[in-house]
Amino acid sequence: MSKQVDPYFPDHGDPRYRVHRYELTLDYRPGPNRLAGTARLSALAGPEPLREFALDLVEFRIGRVLVQGKAAHYTHRGGKLRVKPAKPLTAGAAFTVEVHYSGNPRPVRSQWGGLGWEELTDGALVASQPVGAPSWFPCNDRPADKASYLVSLTTASPYQVVTGGRLLTRTTRASSTTWVYEQAAPTPSYLVGVAIAPLERVLLVDAEPGGVPQTGYVPAELVPRFAGDFGRQPQMMRLFEELFGAYPFGEYAVVVADEELDVPVEAQGMAVFGSNHVDGVRGSERLVAHELAHQWFGNSVTIADWRHIWLNEGFAKFAEWLWSERSGGRSIAAHAADAHRKLALLPQDLKLADPGRKQMFDDRLYDRGGLAVYALQRALTEPMFLRMLRDWTTGRRHGVVTTADFMTHAQRYAAPGQSLVELFDAWLFQGALPPLP
Ligand SMILES: [Zn+2]
Repeated sequence: MSKQVDPYFPDHGDPRYRVHRYELTLDYRPGPNRLAGTARLSALAGPEPLREFALDLVEFRIGRVLVQGKAAHYTHRGGKLRVKPAKPLTAGAAFTVEVHYSGNPRPVRSQWGGLGWEELTDGALVASQPVGAPSWFPCNDRPADKASYLVSLTTASPYQVVTGGRLLTRTTRASSTTWVYEQAAPTPSYLVGVAIAPLERVLLVDAEPGGVPQTGYVPAELVPRFAGDFGRQPQMMRLFEELFGAYPFGEYAVVVADEELDVPVEAQGMAVFGSNHVDGVRGSERLVAHELAHQWFGNSVTIADWRHIWLNEGFAKFAEWLWSERSGGRSIAAHAADAHRKLALLPQDLKLADPGRKQMFDDRLYDRGGLAVYALQRALTEPMFLRMLRDWTTGRRHGVVTTADFMTHAQRYAAPGQSLVELFDAWLFQGALPPLP
């Protein structure tokens, strides 16, 4: 695990401790957009004693902060809740933090627009990548710090509540319903998604027995189109399991918001699409494949910090091309040639392995990332390329990785005497676009 602060978001996260479980007990009232509740974190101090530590949380009203059940001093400004336990925590000590808070959640402003908790016309939606999680719960907001989650959310009964993970219980009392979800797999804070909206539940049936449970949560009027647009997702799931190993989570939920979204976004065991991605003619099927592929690339195999984002997006892009070729559509080579033509017309100043915060979600990163994986496919024999991919997602399952880890990994699948150093240098570390492989 990386011990440094994230170079792109130095204000987020605290590398001096790690969290292994979050228990969030929250109550949300959609009308007044009011969120209130308690976050209980189980954490471990790092190799140094902790006199104080920081959580990321935007401007909520803080009720109490307890460390090991005892009231702790704290300050709260600039999105940082700095906590000073009554007694310093010894190196390596296990400890709990409890934060009681309430307020009107709103998105964190960023160059990519609002991130995190967003009030909808009817309900709410959370998509946090990369730094929106502090908009709704106190967290150690760095991708390397993965934890399990228990989320209990109470809201008005007509709403469907979806968050990644297994629904343990759903209890209705008077006009409120409490939904309790457990996500046992290690999950970074940015990947905890939530949807609270009046949605219909649609099962995506897999013909094979023992398949991964796949459910859609869709506005009623879009249900017929959804069945067609997402109808081949179970086949995608089987293809990706064959190529990348067993699906890393217990279930997969697809939420379609009742509004348009620029791009769909992945969460742990979940993805959120806009109504514009459901057109009845499978017009966004490549994105269905892209978001599903993130469950392996990004959600299970997670980047240590945001410099390595191409390990998520490049492989998700390549997975789009894989699905296209394997489902009888255009070949990987044709997609790669298109992407290369597109990139050749654009400025060549993007360094894939460290694009900079401003360019981390640049379109060029996706295309060039897909091409870098394609370059590897051409450099290795087909059986070794497929083994390399599968060993990466299975060997690093639920882990944390860097670009350097990937280069070391891939080199092992090269022919005797074949070095991948030049290939990686050209594709990952130089701005100029290498020729189409
Ligand atoms: Zn993506």
